[in-house]
Amino acid sequence: MGKKAAIVACATVAAAAAGAAVVVVRRRRRRGVEEGWSESDGKWERAAVIVKELEEKCGTPVWKLRQVADAMVAEMHAGLASDGGSKLKMIISYVDSLPTGDEKGLYYALDLGGTNFRILRVHLGGKERGIIKREFEEVSIPPHLMTGSSNELFDFIATALAKFVATEGEDSRPFPGRQRELGFTFSFPVRQTSITSGTLIKWTKGFSIEDAVGEDVVSELNKAMERVGLDMRVAALVNDTIGTLAGGRYYNPDVVAAVILGTGTNAAYVERIHAIPKWHGPLPKSGEMVINTEWGNFQSSHLPLTEYDQTLDDESLNPGEQTYEKLISGMYLGEIVRIVLLRMAEESALFGDIIPPKLKIPFILRTPDMSTMHHDTSSDLTVVGEKLSYLLEISDTTLRMRKVVVNVCGIVATRGARLAAAGIFGILKKLGRDTVMDREKQRSAIALDGGLFEHYTKFRDCVEGTLRELLGPEVADNTVLVLSEDGSGIGAALLAASHSQYLQTE
Ligand code: ADP
Ligand code: MG
Repeated sequence: MGKKAAIVACATVAAAAAGAAVVVVRRRRRRGVEEGWSESDGKWERAAVIVKELEEKCGTPVWKLRQVADAMVAEMHAGLASDGGSKLKMIISYVDSLPTGDEKGLYYALDLGGTNFRILRVHLGGKERGIIKREFEEVSIPPHLMTGSSNELFDFIATALAKFVATEGEDSRPFPGRQRELGFTFSFPVRQTSITSGTLIKWTKGFSIEDAVGEDVVSELNKAMERVGLDMRVAALVNDTIGTLAGGRYYNPDVVAAVILGTGTNAAYVERIHAIPKWHGPLPKSGEMVINTEWGNFQSSHLPLTEYDQTLDDESLNPGEQTYEKLISGMYLGEIVRIVLLRMAEESALFGDIIPPKLKIPFILRTPDMSTMHHDTSSDLTVVGEKLSYLLEISDTTLRMRKVVVNVCGIVATRGARLAAAGIFGILKKLGRDTVMDREKQRSAIALDGGLFEHYTKFRDCVEGTLRELLGPEVADNTVLVLSEDGSGIGAALLAASHSQYLQTE
């Protein structure tokens, strides 16, 4: 039975009880309440048109995704050919050996990339014993240190490290006569010059410490550790994507790339050194080099951009940059939904005659809230109603309005997830892992990390499903996306191990 028929049936029962005159009124009201039909159906028509246009413009049929992937591959080639050759920076990470599982000993990691930093200690036991022990601590950075001086910040970090080192147990000490080694994950833009040095290009994410810009962050940290009397040195400087790749490879030798889908998005992968024309250094023993693509900045005429994306870009802190990231990552998905809903409120009176004031506030609708609404399985979308009322102070929503909101969340999330899958497909293509080889089947794994992939189930399922669509069943059966075990922290410690100053002496 259709909805209208059901409502009529309800009204008939009511008619029998209360008389025909009442029925007409009640029937109208019920239709109004249940389906959101207001005095003006024209406004609903406009709303429907806006959603339909959004759906069309955000469309990501497979042929389009293939174009996106091909454009990605072309940009990868250009970025590898020369610095500045592409919007894809294709940064050489100086990581030329990834963990094998044989690593042994005690290593530390420091993960600095936001208002908190994480310190990690791992005791590695080689192939047989694996990770014997891991301990970590999270420290929040007092706001005044985020805008103070370089020495103050690094002294604070080194002091926290020294305190943590002081908790080493009897069973977890460095080999006698050896310095402790640290993997340093630093998630700010850095111009790297070796595995143990990199100058800070600029701060982001609320940090602004002028005297650190242009300095080598490794030597800043090493000096601070010396100042506080801590016998430790940085063995590897990496970003979170490289750390995730290293952590992924440790657990699974098939891992060839890592992708971050969190607040932002990025990817790193293992490239053959001969495929990197801009590399003029010595040939690494492995014949390989990890490349940090910085794919968030990818741009192509094949990307399905809309006027809403233009609005978001105009209002952003970095207009014209990070185009791909703005379509995909957790920082932006909720904001795109807000911009669409605002347009609908303005043009179709979706939420009544007054535009809800809260809907005008940028970034008020966060991606986790979008995700919660998108996953609402209740028949009357209660959760969506609650979110709209609590976050945006839009109360008394009808089911019809709530359905529109869910629909918009679905369109925006689907586009982002399918584009992310196209990027992964592009990397696999670049590596020649997108087709079945005659010889034995090659297996590929991609390590994934980030809150968006981890918690937004429909988004994750869509990434996986779309990658399968692009690869075809046979290759897809030999390709896996693995959620990284504990992010980049352990990866940085493992890279300290695989780039240890003591390796040659063993
Ligand atoms: P970061 O990317 O900042 O290093 P995370 O990897 O933990 O941090 O990712 C956090 C981001 O993931 C948040 O900014 C948010 O966009 C997204 N996120 C977190 N939880 C959810 C959720 N439940 N649903 C959708 N997105 C989420
Ligand atoms: Mg992260």
